[in-house]
Amino acid sequence: MRTTPPRALTIAGSDSGGGAGVQADLKTFLCCGVHGTSALTAVTVQNSLGVSGFYELPAQAVIEQVEAVVTDIGVQATKTGMLASAAVIEAVAEMVTRLDVGPLVVDPVCASQHGDALLRDDALEALRDLLVPLATLLTPNLPEARLLTGLEVRGRAGMSQAARALHARGPDWVLVKGGHTDDPDLALDVLFDGDREIELVADRHPSPHTHGTGDTLAAATTAALARGLAVEDAVHAAKAFVTASVADSFGLGAGLGPVGHFWPLEQHHRPAP
Ligand code: PLP
Repeated sequence: MRTTPPRALTIAGSDSGGGAGVQADLKTFLCCGVHGTSALTAVTVQNSLGVSGFYELPAQAVIEQVEAVVTDIGVQATKTGMLASAAVIEAVAEMVTRLDVGPLVVDPVCASQHGDALLRDDALEALRDLLVPLATLLTPNLPEARLLTGLEVRGRAGMSQAARALHARGPDWVLVKGGHTDDPDLALDVLFDGDREIELVADRHPSPHTHGTGDTLAAATTAALARGLAVEDAVHAAKAFVTASVADSFGLGAGLGPVGHFWPLEQHHRPAP
């Protein structure tokens, strides 16, 4: 037997294709040395070509999963991903206030890279007003920053402006992610704590297979927080994990393949030289 490892919780949706969502979170937790627990919010019907639909779970099902995990297993950090509906967001906001879930990473998932909706239109306000203020770290990409702020978010100055506008809504830290754009000037992320702005320069690997990048960054940060790292160090560690995972991405199906989470395990599977 070994000592009990740190535990992390993901409250998120299932990706049947296995590249993003809860599946990406649990793989990331594993590869970052943390025991992963999960509360499913929705089940997407998804492959490399996109999301063709999703089934939401009732808010009560999410509440019971989180309570079961937190009251027995205990978690040192939590992340939220696809939350789908306003009812689930309201339930999650209530629970993270009432229960000890550790530092909270809120990945404000709104749509897939294919542009398929993962959040109901009427849920954006609940996400912005109820959950964003409770985040230890909020991790929007550029489209999500636009939706949450109503700002244009163009260029480096726009990222700064969005980080400040979002920080004013209550999270301790905001990470505005500049990836997923062809603009070479935006190959960086901006981390803001209300005082300092820290630039994280991305080591870009030109891969078309980037499905699950955002989930993986948020999950790796959550794992690092569960291991006791401070937010800035956790984000740097997560960035390194994601960069290596993008370098290890692979084609799958006829569309967009996922980032490869298992590069830390690969030495065990390679034949001996
Ligand atoms: N499916 C689920 C369940 C997700 O949570 C996410 C992102 O958070 C996606 C799909 C989309 O992933 P991507 O934008 O990397 O395609």
